[in-house]
Amino acid sequence: MSEAREGRMRLTLLGGFLGSGKTTWLRHQLHQGLLEDAHVIVNEAAATPVDDALLKGMASIEVLSGGCACCEARDELVARLVRLCDLRSGAASSEARLERVALETSGLADPAAILEAIGAHPVLVHHIVVSETIVCIDALHGLAQFRSEPLSRRQAAVADRLIVTKLDEADTSETARLVATLRVLNPGARIEGAIKGSPVALQLSADAEPETLPDLDGAPSDPIFPTRLILGDGVDWTAFGVWLSALLYARGDDVMRVKGVVRTPAGRLLLQSVRKVVQSPEVLPPQEDREDDTIVVIGRGYESADLRRSLERFAGVRGVGPRQ
Ligand SMILES: [Zn+2]
Repeated sequence: MSEAREGRMRLTLLGGFLGSGKTTWLRHQLHQGLLEDAHVIVNEAAATPVDDALLKGMASIEVLSGGCACCEARDELVARLVRLCDLRSGAASSEARLERVALETSGLADPAAILEAIGAHPVLVHHIVVSETIVCIDALHGLAQFRSEPLSRRQAAVADRLIVTKLDEADTSETARLVATLRVLNPGARIEGAIKGSPVALQLSADAEPETLPDLDGAPSDPIFPTRLILGDGVDWTAFGVWLSALLYARGDDVMRVKGVVRTPAGRLLLQSVRKVVQSPEVLPPQEDREDDTIVVIGRGYESADLRRSLERFAGVRGVGPRQ
């Protein structure tokens, strides 16, 4: 069925586990003028969007924050999609009609739940066609995630296209094993490689064995939740760096993701870590409107209040925000 003839608005769903490189991939596509015609919706589980700062000015973009679009924020997502469909139906000309939406989900989203919500909705099912589900897989952490996180397997299993990210950071034989495992989890998907969003050919030995993954059915696991830390003025950056390193060293299996935009003497910096791997901070362009320095920590097995207390004690941070 030709998409153009079909007349429905196309939706590209972009998913992948915490820190798997979804935003980096999306930014690169937008830089390259791909997805140029798309309206982009970015979903973040935390109430304070960080990815918004990264993508601002690059596309028609809106942020859906304060909950994951596959569960807590599903009704809000559906409402926004219905609104886009209404606007499209009312467009004065076919040139003015929005033809494509790209949704970047949070790292905690199960894309299947979003696909179901669209398919079950009386309006959306007639106005939206999900043209592609793309799932990013972290070359460095993907196998570890498959071993312990049922959600990461479900994400991989529903993809039309799997993008193995951070190829430059992982060992080739590990990547070959990851790709072989992906072929078992999702035999139908196209598998591609990427470094910082750019496509890179996967040159891997064909005889790599897939990993036999443990059965996780029914295994209890604590919920993963975001904690927002607002850094007031006068943060001691050296102390903050030491605190973050110590936190990841001690709790790197529980703290799955740290992400934040902070204003430092060196400029506006994007700080990110995935498990124990801290990426070197990226300098972002200055921005006029005053924003809080916010760090979002996503993980499980601790209390938000304990994180705040330890940060306050360590780095002299005031006004650390409430749990969400
Ligand atoms: Zn969800």
